[in-house]
Amino acid sequence: MSQLTLVHGKKSKTNHETFRGRHLIDGRWQDSADGAIFERGSPSHKTLVSLSARGGEADANAAIAAARKAFDTSGWPQTSGKQRSELLLRVADLIAANVERIALLETLESGKPISQAKAEIEGSVDLWRYAAALARTVHGDSHNSLGSDMLGVVLKEPIGVAAIITPWNFPFLIVSQKLPFALAAGCTAVIKPSELTPSTTVILGELLMEAGLPAGVANIVLGFGDPVGSLMSTHEDVDLVTFTGSTAVGKHIVAAASGTLKKVSLELGGKNPQAIFADADLDQAADAIVFGVYFNAGECCNSGSRIIVHEDVAGALVEKIVALSKKVSFGDPLHPDTQVGAIISEAHRGKIDSYVQSAKRAGAKIHLGGEALAIDGLPGCFYGPTIVSNIDSSMPIARDEVFGPVLAVLTFKTLDEAISLANSASYGLSAGVWSENVHTCLEFARRVQAGTVWTNTWMDGFAELPFGGVKQSGQGRELGHYGLEEFLEVKSVLMRIGQTRQPWVK
Ligand code: NAD
Repeated sequence: MSQLTLVHGKKSKTNHETFRGRHLIDGRWQDSADGAIFERGSPSHKTLVSLSARGGEADANAAIAAARKAFDTSGWPQTSGKQRSELLLRVADLIAANVERIALLETLESGKPISQAKAEIEGSVDLWRYAAALARTVHGDSHNSLGSDMLGVVLKEPIGVAAIITPWNFPFLIVSQKLPFALAAGCTAVIKPSELTPSTTVILGELLMEAGLPAGVANIVLGFGDPVGSLMSTHEDVDLVTFTGSTAVGKHIVAAASGTLKKVSLELGGKNPQAIFADADLDQAADAIVFGVYFNAGECCNSGSRIIVHEDVAGALVEKIVALSKKVSFGDPLHPDTQVGAIISEAHRGKIDSYVQSAKRAGAKIHLGGEALAIDGLPGCFYGPTIVSNIDSSMPIARDEVFGPVLAVLTFKTLDEAISLANSASYGLSAGVWSENVHTCLEFARRVQAGTVWTNTWMDGFAELPFGGVKQSGQGRELGHYGLEEFLEVKSVLMRIGQTRQPWVK
């Protein structure tokens, strides 16, 4: 393995070995059947981070067969909630003991700041612990009022083999929003991480094996959407696809899954609006808006990328946002004080910039940024904090998911107008409202089309609360007990008791 020296600015320096990722199939680490591999370089330092087996159809088929066999014959679905819970807790402890190592790889592959990568892995530990608690709560119900000789029992059973397909923006967190819940339910799984951030899922596979998960219960296939993700979506031995990623790919998956009518859960994109009313605490709102739009370089499904502000306070609010934006530290993701790191790829940075340039051509006002950012000593891919106003809701920058550190500012006069602007995008992931008036907050929360509504705050999240979208932001829910339900099937068992059945044929 080659030894890499990553030079990243004046203060921080680290050596890192190229990470070598293989598929985990039926409890064994394997190269691709055809020997293919792919590379991932750091988007900030332009150094080689990982070399991974590049899965083909043979590898995906083998992983699905292993998951099927484990579901049908290993006894995993029949284990008690207590046994599954204990295993998930062991995994949680192992993740907690490996935070530094996982976070470093996450930062190197994704370009996100190391402090936020650590917080992401620590947050994932909490999800494994929460799912462990849920494993002991799986239960159906019973009906004893169906007549004196009849008992109805409703069973909750694991749905079967779950295909888990994840994106690059929060690779470890998102697999942790799915896999522990699938395992808590008694499912088996095949996981395909993004080709841009495969390695932390491989470490998770190592920890699963160390914790004693039986062979074949969780399998990992590295590689690209085509053919691995496509095959997982069409395969008749897969019972559920749970996907987090873009709306465009989500639509492909729904179409691909229709051939077998398998269940599909989708966590997709967002163009999340925040309405700021004239009576809002503008300082608090400005701080949260700045956090919401630059967190994870805006590469966040929950990015607060669209604000709708009352015209009486729009000027004052934008001034505050611009001033705060200038204080946010964009830079080397490996530096502990960095708040915003690199953009995932050159191609994606180009896409972000094209939204800004097209808005500019259409007459938008650029209050700040609007261009690539050069970071001293780093060859990588950065984009500056950008604030755009003088736009209308039909423009791509106000409507589409830009997925970068770009804030679109719209204005309103009345509550009805704020709600209509908020609902004008095809997405419905999350939304926010800022007002000192509880009636305004509640009316907005009830009328806005979104899976999550934050009032006088932005982007708080808890394992206990369900998360997901409406409209083109997805279907199904993760987290809370709803997250477990996604992996459960319902079966009614009708039992005649006591008297023998009256013959139908006289
Ligand atoms: P993407 O849709 O390009 O890729 C996601 C995953 O799908 C990757 O593993 C990819 O290899 C795979 N894939 C690609 N084509 C496929 C196909 N035809 N069939 C099956 N799988 C295929 O998304 P991305 O660029 O990795 O992630 C960014 C997107 O994810 C954004 O739109 C963001 O909003 C969304 N996202 C949503 C949430 C949420 O919870 N709602 C969370 C994070 C990210």
